[in-house]
Amino acid sequence: MSMFEDIPVEVGVIYEGERIRRKDMHIELGGPDIKEKFELTRVKKPEEVEDGKVTIIGSDFKDMEEGKSYAFGILIEVAGPQLEPELEGVIERRIHEYCNFIEGFMHLNQRYDIWLRLSKKSFQKGLNSLQYIGKVLHRLFKSELPIIEKMQVTFITDPEKVKGLYSEALQIYEARDARARGLKDEEVDKFYGCVLCQSFAPTHVCVITPQRYSNCGAISWFDGRAAASIDPKGPVFTIEKGELLDPVKGEFSGVNDTAKKKTLGEITRVWLYTAFGYPHTSCGCFEGTAFYIPEVDGFGVVHRGYKDIAVNGLPFSTLADSTAGGRQVDGFHGISIEYMRSPKFLQADGGWNRVVWLPKEVKERVKDFIPAEFVDKVATEEEAKTIDELKTFLKERNHPVVERWKEEVVAVPAEVKEEAPAVPVVTATTLPITAGGFRIILKDAKVYAKKVIIRSVKSEKGEKTEKR
Ligand code: SF4
Repeated sequence: MSMFEDIPVEVGVIYEGERIRRKDMHIELGGPDIKEKFELTRVKKPEEVEDGKVTIIGSDFKDMEEGKSYAFGILIEVAGPQLEPELEGVIERRIHEYCNFIEGFMHLNQRYDIWLRLSKKSFQKGLNSLQYIGKVLHRLFKSELPIIEKMQVTFITDPEKVKGLYSEALQIYEARDARARGLKDEEVDKFYGCVLCQSFAPTHVCVITPQRYSNCGAISWFDGRAAASIDPKGPVFTIEKGELLDPVKGEFSGVNDTAKKKTLGEITRVWLYTAFGYPHTSCGCFEGTAFYIPEVDGFGVVHRGYKDIAVNGLPFSTLADSTAGGRQVDGFHGISIEYMRSPKFLQADGGWNRVVWLPKEVKERVKDFIPAEFVDKVATEEEAKTIDELKTFLKERNHPVVERWKEEVVAVPAEVKEEAPAVPVVTATTLPITAGGFRIILKDAKVYAKKVIIRSVKSEKGEKTEKR
């Protein structure tokens, strides 16, 4: 008898990567429309856990209204003689994988950012209770991670209850992240890799180092070590660092070899501390995206929960699309919030010297880790909503990128005679151009022009002014 005979839909690895579009969804749990949502794993004493128990606090699938989004919390409590609190993050991250094994049930993101959908089709097939989801999780966890002896699952859909536990969960995540701070990449000889997201991005492998937290923000170097030790054949594995090829960009021979192997030759080099050249790939569940802003030669960062348009005129979803998919895209870089607290954060690109814009919420979260001299120089949506406003702000605050403008932009005489020799108008190490749906990157570019047209776009509808 199959392990899932009593479940009304199929369960298996083939359903991983299945996307459920809005028109096909019965209901949604968490996601962008819901502020408070979380998933959390806690290691407990054996007497505190009733093996196999599934509790639902609030309404169940069958009581929910079609097409609606609901507050949601998943609490998984586990016990076993070998289980340490250090493993909580690792067990918790598997919720993503195992939920996605269920036909017509989609899980995205992690921790406080979870987004789940149940398809109409699976609901009609009889997947009408969270009890089934709890049963599947219990069986998969126990068969895949035998060190879990007892496990109970609680689903919370009562918004008030979710709210209370949500703030508690945030404190637990912070304590976990804080535990992993302080250790340096130079001090270890092993990194860890994760391919859990390859079902969505087949050429993506996360390289988790002490100072470069996983993109999803859910797996620290310590979590990686714990995961690789309890399940060495699992999705999280050890990477021998190998030779240090570039300390500034963060290139290691062992990382390159692993990336090549795990992506079947698609990715051959990885530079851990830069968004250019061979940046770390991005899957789809990064907490935020760092994006290069050519107009100011600096970086903005936008996080998944940011609802407005970023300073360059694009929403998170568009920036995320430009970043995701296991590619190495110059100037678009999936990151975790915790990586912003690392001294290695975009080290090769100038680190905080180069960051010009952040949503206020992110700035608050990482404020204590921004070098004091830069805190007031980084704009938020309150100071700059457009590139023009950003330029003014950066000049006023004397942000270090302003110096780069002088270096890189050569003044052009107002009248350039046709026969005058062409002068370099722009020089840049990397110059991205977006046109006709393609992104063209000129490396070490020197652009010459006989005439320069500066065009300011006044409105989206096309009212333009031109200066020649
Ligand atoms: S983002 Fe990276 S570390 Fe996190 S689950 Fe995906 S592959 Fe693993």
